[in-house]
This record gives sequence, C-alpha cells and structure tokens, in this order.
Amino acid sequence: MQEHEIDVVPGRCRICGDSAPVLRLTEFNLKVCEPCFLRFLERRVRRTIEKHGMIGEGDRVVLALSGGKDSAALLFALRRLGVVMGFELSALHFHLNMGDYSDRNLVVVEDQAKAAGVPLEVKRISDLGLQVRRVKGWHPCAVCGAIKRSLMNREAKRLGATVVATAHTLEDVLLFTFKNLFSRKFYVPQPVLPASGELSRKVKPLIYNHERMNLSYCRLKGVPVFEERCPEWTPRGHSFKDVLEHMEEVMPSSKLRLLLSLQEAIPAGGDLHEGEHTACESCGEPTSQSLCALCQLSNWFARRTDHDDSYNGV
Ligand SMILES: [Zn+2]
Ligand SMILES: [Zn+2]
Repeated sequence: MQEHEIDVVPGRCRICGDSAPVLRLTEFNLKVCEPCFLRFLERRVRRTIEKHGMIGEGDRVVLALSGGKDSAALLFALRRLGVVMGFELSALHFHLNMGDYSDRNLVVVEDQAKAAGVPLEVKRISDLGLQVRRVKGWHPCAVCGAIKRSLMNREAKRLGATVVATAHTLEDVLLFTFKNLFSRKFYVPQPVLPASGELSRKVKPLIYNHERMNLSYCRLKGVPVFEERCPEWTPRGHSFKDVLEHMEEVMPSSKLRLLLSLQEAIPAGGDLHEGEHTACESCGEPTSQSLCALCQLSNWFARRTDHDDSYNGV
C-alpha cells in the first residue's frame, strides 16, 4: 500500500495567518503552513509526554530507531524536546540479519542519527545467533517482535536508560486493539508502562499521531526515511489498515476518537507488563514463562542441524 501523504494546497495558515502553501490536516480540520506544521507536531508530542508523565527532567531516554518514518519523526521531535525539557536522548537500532535489506536499513539509520546529532547504538542479532525467519509455531513477524522486545529490555538496562521510547502510532495501537478484540481480549496498549523490577518505563509519545503526519514531518525536515518493505511483509497482516483509512475518509478524525473511546471503555488492567514477572531460568531476564522468548529462540537456532547462515528471504 502506498503511504498516504498530506495534501499541500495554496491557502492561509490557521495558526500564523500567512498566505502560503498549507498542509490539509483533515484529522483536525486544520490548514497550516509548513513551519507551523513542524511546531504543531512537536507541540503535540510534548503535550502527550506531559499529559501522561512519560518523560521528565533528567531522564535518560533510549529510542528504538528502525529507520522508518515514525521512529525518524520521533527522533527529531525528541531531540528538540530534550533540549527544552532537560532529558538525554540516544538511539538504539537492531540489525535484523536479513541480508542486504538490513545493511541498507542500517545506512539510513546511521544517516538519521548523524543528522539529528544523537548517539546511536547498533545491536546485531547475528551476534546472538538469531535470525528473523519462520520458527516452528512462530510467524517471522512474531519472531522479530519477540527478539526486539527482549533485546530492548536488556539493552535499555545496559545503557542505563530510565525510559524506553517506541514509535507506536495511532494506527499501530488501533490495529493491535482490534486483533485483541476479535479474540475477546479486552486490552488497549497503554501510552505508558511504568518501570517494574528491572524493566525501564516504556512510553509511546506518538500514540495520538497519525502516520501520515510523521511522514510529512520527515519530508519537510529533509530527514532520510527507510521505505523498503520488509522481505517478510505479507498483505494479509496489513490489509486491515486499509479499513482504518476508509473509516477516516468517511469520517475525518474517527481514528483518534475511536482510540480515545476505547481507552475510556477498556481501562488499563493491572498486568501492564503482560506477565513479565518471573525470571528466565536460563538468563534471568523477566518473562512470563520458564524460558524467555529470546532463550527459546536461541535454543531453537542452536539445535538446528541444517543451519544456514545466509538469509533466504531476499
Ligand atoms: Zn503558519
Ligand atoms: Zn532467557
């Protein structure tokens, strides 16, 4: 699916009053000039951070930087806000061992971090004997998600982060919630997961941002964005996003209103960290089972006799 971009049309900015090319933010029934749009997005992120007490003065924030438009936009917004709000920011990227695709991804991520002037840490999953691929009973996306989640927890601890920021968007959170609701699980991802035991606080400062706003923010700031589709991408996993786009077209602002309604209707449960309360028997990291996902996967890859180091998905 093509990424939607925000229309730019001649007009008058509703914020500063200048006659200039304006972006049509149908979600907010607003037309704003380009400089005002950049400030609008940053102010919106700041309000989300303050409203939910996501980040405070003196925090050490680690951002999961994938190279895509959402985490790139968050990188630049947090870089600016860090100066004003008094927190430190660094970026962490996982090289996912998917052949040339991951190498090209890393080049863009390095460019982004350099342009933002934010220190970047790169973790290669090949160093841990891991791969993103189908594993018995696991879809590659589930393997990827489990690896990233586990590594994020332990790297955040290693880097002394008080906060882990991820670029989950309004659309991400709605899709996740729908998938839960379809199987009668009443759970809406929360803007903040408080620190618990060895787990750092986790925050989603873009939870009320439409993805196309993030893309436009990157375009206007000239931020390079990694736009290649993941080799494991399947239309099925993403086609539901089109439903959300259609809904938004029929009724502007419906995505945001839907999330706010769902948050009100389904209060946060007590088990915010999804059961990560016992220690993995092998590595001691928090998990909900006897072995954490990372150790289960490491064991699986180590046991494979037909082990082939090359990635076949590209
Ligand atoms: Zn303006
Ligand atoms: Zn483990």
